[in-house]
Order: sequence, then C-alpha cells, then structure tokens
Amino acid sequence: MNQETVHEVVIVGSGPAGYTAAIYAARAQLNPIVYEGSVTAGGALMNTTEVENFPGFPNGVMGPDLMEQMRKQSERFGAKLITDDIVEMKLDGKVKELKDGSGNLIKTKSLILATGSAYKEIGLENEKRLSGRGVSWCATCDGFFFRDQVIAVVGGGDSAMEEANFLTKFASKVVIIHRREQLRASKIMIERAKNNPKIEFLFNTQVIDVIGTDKVTGLKLKDLKSGTERIQDFTGLFVAIGHLPRSELIKGQVDLDNDGYAKVQSGTTLTNVPGVFACGDLVDHRYRQAITAAGTGCQAALDAEKYLTALS
Ligand code: NAP
Repeated sequence: MNQETVHEVVIVGSGPAGYTAAIYAARAQLNPIVYEGSVTAGGALMNTTEVENFPGFPNGVMGPDLMEQMRKQSERFGAKLITDDIVEMKLDGKVKELKDGSGNLIKTKSLILATGSAYKEIGLENEKRLSGRGVSWCATCDGFFFRDQVIAVVGGGDSAMEEANFLTKFASKVVIIHRREQLRASKIMIERAKNNPKIEFLFNTQVIDVIGTDKVTGLKLKDLKSGTERIQDFTGLFVAIGHLPRSELIKGQVDLDNDGYAKVQSGTTLTNVPGVFACGDLVDHRYRQAITAAGTGCQAALDAEKYLTALS
C-alpha cells in the first residue's frame, strides 16, 4: 500500500456493521479500505449457528454464511479488504493516521469504527488458566470436544440459551447456571431450552471457582440464597455472560461512556472527533442484533459520505 495515499474512508472491523458500511461506502465510490482483523473476519456471527431473525432469510441462515455473503457484496462494489489489525490510531487532525499489524501507515480523511465487542469473562483466576482446557466462550468452536460429557453454561441471556441448545448435540447433559431466578433471554429461546430434555437449570447460583489441575473437573458453586458452597462435577464450562466493547485503541481519543462504549451524537454515528464515526456493538449496549449493527453500519457510511462532501 502506498503510505502517502490519503484514503477517503477506512473501516475497522468486519462484522455486520463493518461490511454494511463497506457496501454503502463502496457504492458511493469512496473506495473504502476495510481492516477485517488478523484472526477471523466476520465478527461475532462467525461463532453463531443459525440466525433465524435476519430479515430476508425465511428459513434462517448460518452466521458464517451470512457474513460471507456480506463480505462478497462489499467486494463486488470495490471495497478493499485487508486481513490485518489496526494497532495504533492518531485521530486528531484532518488526516487520521493508522498503523496496521504489519507496520504500514495508513492515512485517511474519515474513519468508521466497527470493532464490535469481545466475550466477557467471569474474572476467576482458574477460568483463565483452564481456558482451552475445558473453559470456552464459543460452543460452535469447541462443543465438538465435549461428546457425552456434562457441561455447564453460565449466563441467563440469549447467548447462554443458544450455547446450551447447541451443546446438547454433543453433551450428555448441559446445566445452565444463572445468578438470578429470572432469565434475561427472549421467550422463544427460554422455551426451546426448557423443552430440551438434556438441559437443566441451576438458578440463584454463582460460579466462584473452576476446579482442575490441567483440565476442568468441576466447579465450585455458591447458592446465593442460602450462602452455601459446594463442588459439582463438570468437564466443561462455557461462559456466555455478555460482551465488552472493543474500545481500547480509541480510549483517550474518542469519548466513551462509563462501560467503555463509544459515545455518538443521538440518532447518528458521529463521535466527538470530526471525521470519526462509530457503529455496531462498539456503540450499542441495548439492541446488539446483527440487523441493528448492519443498520448503524449503513448510517456510518452515509455520515462519512456527508462529512467528505462538506470537506471538498
Ligand atoms: P446479555 O443479554 O447481556 O446476558 C448476559 C447474561 O449473563 C445475563 O443473564 C447476566 O445476568 C449474566 N451475567 C453477566 N455478568 C455475569 C457475571 N459476572 N457472572 C454471572 N453471570 C453474569 O448477553 P447475551 O446473552 O450475550 O446477549 C447479548 C445480546 O445479543 C442480546 O441483545 C441478545 O438478545 C442478543 N443475542 C441474540 C441471539 C438470538 O436471537 N439468537 C443470540 C445471542 C445473543 P443478569 O441477567 O443477572 O444480568
């Protein structure tokens, strides 16, 4: 890449928000550069199974297939996709400067941030130590390794229900452990989990430790009503307790809220930095759906286009 070129728009992130921004920016002939990330392009939907609620797919669509289609659609209009990370950003000034994982300097007049969110951890020392040795955040990635085993899923939201249902393909039993009595998940997902004969629920229960020397053998659980603690045997722990915004790179440059989400002007994708737009799960702690992320990706591209028109 010519390091002197000043691009019209660079998009960082490759979930539904990033690719939708790329489709719109490419059709507006802004020649967008998309940094997809060095590991897996496609964002959180790459770890999902069937997406049943994305409009236009009456029979559902697999998360990775949906992302592949969005990716191809952005390429069709000329978006340039780069499989690398942005590791540094300098956002003041009219020309934004970015550095990628290969050491390239990228200059751009506008920037769309669509970096999404990362899995939240419970925060236990042994959870980290036994990660990949029985502790996982992704049932579609790791479920296969737990054939005929008894697995715990922590969380009470849609992710926990989805992970648990998926894991019953392999596991002999899946126990959903939730810290409250009421589940946060949507009715349809709760129904499905409750009707699955391999799924059991443990309410008002907190995981306070993960037991195991070189692989998970059990969990230390606390009954939050009685205060009693006990160890229960499990060979797998899937953590599905939500996400944290990926905003480390922009901290100190773009205004964030108390939870670390990028702040945007109401009803737009405009951050406090002129020429920098934010969309998708980086901004949204309320809806967090593929369709809402795609919607704000579209808004970001339109906002960037308007900004660039005013510059010229
Ligand atoms: P979520 O809705 O925020 O739920 C997180 C769950 O984890 C909550 O039940 C929460 O408990 C629990 N939790 C949080 N921190 C915890 C901790 N430190 N220890 C123990 N439990 C903890 O997150 P999500 O399930 O990942 O869903 C995120 C969004 O994606 C939602 O809007 C959801 O609808 C969407 N989604 C949709 C689908 C689908 O439609 N197929 C699938 C997956 C996700 P409390 O309830 O007590 O707060």
